[in-house]
Amino acid sequence: MNANASRSAVIPPYRSEYIDLKLKEFVSMNNIRRWPLDCIKVLQGMKNRKQYSIDRIGVRDLQQGLDAVTQYNFFTESYEVWFNNQTYRYPYKKSSHRRLNFTAAHEIGHIVLEHLLIPERRKNCRQKRLDELEADEFAARLLMPKNLICSFNYYSLEAVAAWLNVSKTALIHRLIRLNRLPLLSSRRLSSCTRCGNTRFSAFARFCGVCGLSLHRGVKGIRRIYYPDEIPMDAFKRVLVCPKCNKKIHHTAGLYCPFCSTGIFNFCIDFFSSSGDGCSYANPAYARFCEMCGKATDYNKKRFFYDWQEIYCNGAENNY
Ligand SMILES: [Zn+2]
Ligand SMILES: [Zn+2]
Ligand SMILES: [Zn+2]
Ligand SMILES: [Zn+2]
Repeated sequence: MNANASRSAVIPPYRSEYIDLKLKEFVSMNNIRRWPLDCIKVLQGMKNRKQYSIDRIGVRDLQQGLDAVTQYNFFTESYEVWFNNQTYRYPYKKSSHRRLNFTAAHEIGHIVLEHLLIPERRKNCRQKRLDELEADEFAARLLMPKNLICSFNYYSLEAVAAWLNVSKTALIHRLIRLNRLPLLSSRRLSSCTRCGNTRFSAFARFCGVCGLSLHRGVKGIRRIYYPDEIPMDAFKRVLVCPKCNKKIHHTAGLYCPFCSTGIFNFCIDFFSSSGDGCSYANPAYARFCEMCGKATDYNKKRFFYDWQEIYCNGAENNY
């Protein structure tokens, strides 16, 4: 990585598009579906899967000011990635350590964008600078997809940077590049501190998605819309039975006439024999009872996706 890289060169639009295509291909080939990323691990995975002919990944003395270097050997047609002894801090513990994650993503960028397949001596200064810029851009898009970084409550830059496993500097640069600096002062939406859920019934005491008690407030840094997975009417009765998939015409009763599944997403307590427990009918996204925090009937019956799957998902991300 070269600190002077950004001085004069600009990535032309067709190269920006190329980065985008290569990145999408890379993300799908490596089956990357959950953020935050740890690019030291991603790099190791690339080596293990032998997709990119990476021969060695190691740490050694490098020239001062250089965080890492990737070399391509034209005889063996393989890569070596070396990190600088002096700056290698892993696992990342604080913002300055997380810079290494960006460095690793940058080196991945050089490999995926095939910069090194043209020998250094055949490049002029401008081309070399452009390579550095492109690798930086690749790293920023990989670690901080656009949709993802627009979906945070920015209570503090550090909190979001820590979630993403990047340094505060890297995050600021990314926001500037995307023209999204105003996000830092934009309105915050109530969200669960554990799962990022933004939907709560009027008197909810627990998060319906992950079951966390809301008594400490709803100042989560993620904001995630967990959709209604089961269609219901305004009275919170299912329109289609989640078990047998038959349409239900509501006349009387609490159960599906075909398979006896409850037509409300009751708190599990409702079915307890003592009969004096919670009997709250929960909304169509609720895995947990919003009143008492116990599992819902539909959760027990496994009618929902795991919220964790949605929480770290970057699949529909724009880079
Ligand atoms: Zn570089
Ligand atoms: Zn939650
Ligand atoms: Zn049924
Ligand atoms: Zn309950």
